[in-house]
Amino acid sequence: MEITRRGFVRTAGLAAVGSLAFELSNQSEAFAFNAVKDDWKLVNTEEHTNICCYCSGGCGVICSVRDGELVGLEGDPDHVINEGTLCPKGATMFQLRNVVDPATGKLMHNPNRITSPKVRRPGASDWEDITWDRAAAEIAAHVKKTRDESFVTERNGVTVNYTPAIGSMGGSQQNCEEDYLILKLMRSLGVVALDNQARV
Ligand code: SF4
Repeated sequence: MEITRRGFVRTAGLAAVGSLAFELSNQSEAFAFNAVKDDWKLVNTEEHTNICCYCSGGCGVICSVRDGELVGLEGDPDHVINEGTLCPKGATMFQLRNVVDPATGKLMHNPNRITSPKVRRPGASDWEDITWDRAAAEIAAHVKKTRDESFVTERNGVTVNYTPAIGSMGGSQQNCEEDYLILKLMRSLGVVALDNQARV
């Protein structure tokens, strides 16, 4: 059987129209059913766009909020980076705030969420909460003391100016600009042990 160009285009067009009609008739009934349900998960919610906090990929998310509470989180289809998709980490970002109570099946604030810095003192077995200001001040004091005590200015007659006692581990949440500033800070302190844990 000989297939002409005109015949091929007509056949392909009919197939596409038939397929589309089938899809529409298939979906419209289900959509109408969901849309009128009172307990539809996202009914009466406000949508707020945000950015995933887990890595510097910067995927966009839509947070659905009802009465001031987060009730849904999904990839933003209009976002230029992820176009609606989320990796497994991003897809679970909702749980940073809320989880399902296994006893009631209802949402509740995640009881495991840590909301303040913590410190475990030498010899202690428990972590204690401290303020952000105090945490920053204590970290700065430890860094200064450790650097001053370990700073090496010369080795084998060569000026080296570094500390072997401090290392820096970057996180995947940091973007290029933040990593640039961290690198500058570490180099200015004489820290040479620098690494990054990438996307863990
Ligand atoms: S963790 Fe996943 S969803 Fe979040 S920004 Fe990175 S790639 Fe995107």
